[in-house]
Amino acid sequence: MIPTDCLIIGAGPCGLFQVFELGLLGIKAHLVDALPKAGGQCSELYPEKPIYDIPAYPIIGAQELVEKLMQQIHPFGPTFHFGQQVTELRAEGDAFQVATSAGTRFTARSVVIAAGVGAFQPVLLRLDGLDRFHDSQIFYRVRDAAQHAGKHIVVLGGGDSALDWALALLDKAASMTLIHRSDKFRAQTASVEKMHAFAAQGRLKFLTGHVHGYTEESGQLAGLKLKDNAGAEHVVPAQHVLVFYGLSPKLGPIAEWGLNLNKHTLVVDTEKFESSVPGIHAVGDINTYPGKKKLILSGFHEAALAAFAIKQRLNPGEKVHLQYTTTSPLMHQRLGVETPKD
Ligand code: FAD
Repeated sequence: MIPTDCLIIGAGPCGLFQVFELGLLGIKAHLVDALPKAGGQCSELYPEKPIYDIPAYPIIGAQELVEKLMQQIHPFGPTFHFGQQVTELRAEGDAFQVATSAGTRFTARSVVIAAGVGAFQPVLLRLDGLDRFHDSQIFYRVRDAAQHAGKHIVVLGGGDSALDWALALLDKAASMTLIHRSDKFRAQTASVEKMHAFAAQGRLKFLTGHVHGYTEESGQLAGLKLKDNAGAEHVVPAQHVLVFYGLSPKLGPIAEWGLNLNKHTLVVDTEKFESSVPGIHAVGDINTYPGKKKLILSGFHEAALAAFAIKQRLNPGEKVHLQYTTTSPLMHQRLGVETPKD
């Protein structure tokens, strides 16, 4: 059980900035994200795209913004718990009991839900009965490349993950087949060219078409049935299948935590950005209030006000003062610079 003053659910841009605003007020946070890294939609959906409406940045790449935020919050030492979804959140006395899909448990004095449009989950290869091979022969992420060595591998998808893993595992596999629905890719041109060059040398097989079934041998997955785009049927040897069909956000368990919802978003006030349960705040794309706009800068503002409310909750009866960062002793101490005299 990990005790914390504040648990932030979601490490997208708004969850990250929440760390900064809490840090300025002397509050340390833990963050949990279902993804294996920080950045939310910015990193997952449009890392290379430019953003033009972050104040003081005429233009900034989405991934670059995430990196700057990570740099900005570094002095406040947040603890990240990646690759796990928050599945349970319930009030117990003055605190909140939180549990994740990986079994991590927290007792949090306050909670900020910065869950955006929901937890990003892999889009599944849906075939009857295939679920039983999940994590033994069907994989949605590569945790340990060595476990795929010597296998007949099929990689499904046409994005960077699919191309990168098909190329990376090529030399370790008994055979490598890449299957995509068309010959148009959403991956780096250099990787696509490399893949075509290897296919021409016979080092991997590239097929376009639709996977519609599978074969088994002695209860083990043995092959995938594919109808190619010319209508021909194939059975591709498949001991390990790596599926990279992309990620789609799911609100998931948040809807079951007893909080007031309006169209898959959490209803909050505009003073504390608090949900219908005192002590549970919501910032960024996950919240709604009159006039809400799903913009990063709106989430930043919400995070600032939520932090003040949390400070007040943790220190009842004390007046919470606004401290400019320019003169904040805490900021200077964290950055290791001298506090200006005036
Ligand atoms: P998100 O970025 O969605 O992050 C939420 C995080 O919470 C995710 O990482 C998710 O995995 C995690 N999560 C959710 N549920 C759980 C759970 N139960 N357990 C653990 N983790 C969980 N905005 C702008 O202001 N300017 C722009 O120019 C702009 N361009 C955009 C372009 C595109 C193509 C898209 C898709 C969006 C754009 N946006 C833009 C919107 C902007 O990206 C969002 O407003 C912003 O990402 C919201 O940040 P967030 O932190 O609230 O949520």
